Amino acid sequence: MDPLNYLKIKNKIPSNVNILAVSKGFKSQEIKTLQNLGQNDFGESKFQEAFEKQLILKEFNPITWHFIGRIQSNKIRKIVTNFKYIHSVDSFEKLQKISSISREENKNPLIMLQVKLSDDPTKGGFNPELLMLKWAEIKELKNITLSGLMTINPKGISSKENTELFKECRSLADSLQLPDCSMGMSSDWEEAIEAGSTWLRLGSLIFGKRY
Ligand SMILES: *Cc1c(COP(=O)(O)O)cnc(C)c1O
Repeated sequence: MDPLNYLKIKNKIPSNVNILAVSKGFKSQEIKTLQNLGQNDFGESKFQEAFEKQLILKEFNPITWHFIGRIQSNKIRKIVTNFKYIHSVDSFEKLQKISSISREENKNPLIMLQVKLSDDPTKGGFNPELLMLKWAEIKELKNITLSGLMTINPKGISSKENTELFKECRSLADSLQLPDCSMGMSSDWEEAIEAGSTWLRLGSLIFGKRY
């Protein structure tokens, strides 16, 4: 983790776009170094790995934790109690379960619904039409705050294709009156900004190569 590199990236990003530092594969010490530079939002994709770091970092300044990985149903209670944001809610059933568990735990996580905009078989998410159909029902769910949509583009597409997919995500979010779009990673963050991202999920660009 090179502090100068982080500051250089931060300077290139408009102030209305948030950086989520994706710390999976990196150590709590590196998180602390970055936090000292003013970065407070950190994203993790595996519960157990994240929880170990959360325990270590608990005694220092509070961090805002975001869950960005595939959600296993049996981990929902742990995710709801230990993360303020959940970016990767990829089905109505999981959303319902998050809502009912949040109610029991007296929580109210900020939710980004993952949408599937291309037919990449390795990625999950709501089909956009289904999301529209279910929208009235989704809005009724208690103890969740719907803040936006999240998408992951397939690998190996052109810059133009990246921008187009991100714009689809943005316009879907706009039509649902959702403020946030969690989109853009180390390889496509510039396209994501151009298309209206509000949360860039940056791992290797900030931290360097994963171990
Ligand atoms: C790992 C990960 C990222 C960050 O990836 P980089 O290419 O290292 O920036 C972003 N989003 C999700 C969902 C991830 O799992």
